[in-house]
Amino acid sequence: MTGAILAHEMMHAWFRLRGIRTGQLELKVEEGMCQVIGRKWLEWLEAQDRKTSSAITEHAQFQRNLIETYKYVVDMHSSYEYGHGFREAKWAVEKYKLHRTIDHILTYRKLPE
Ligand SMILES: [Zn+2]
Repeated sequence: MTGAILAHEMMHAWFRLRGIRTGQLELKVEEGMCQVIGRKWLEWLEAQDRKTSSAITEHAQFQRNLIETYKYVVDMHSSYEYGHGFREAKWAVEKYKLHRTIDHILTYRKLPE
């Protein structure tokens, strides 16, 4: 969960580094995109586990359950910015891929439609 939150916050920092100031993006676009990156980090962690561990220990299973639970929390978030914003950003990334979605946000300050 800490890793996902850090990935989320790094996306905010990256927007700042690319010249997008706080408040220039609609909140649901910025938070939604940051949630997408946080979730991608969870997916990466899950893939690492599959590649490197076949452990069936209680601890390994507990960690897998935590990842699954946090992914669910991200997917089902009920707020407008984090929930609805995430689902819109996820849709855009699935349709246009990550780099094209981010390029579009940098250029037009909104998600591609
Ligand atoms: Zn945020």
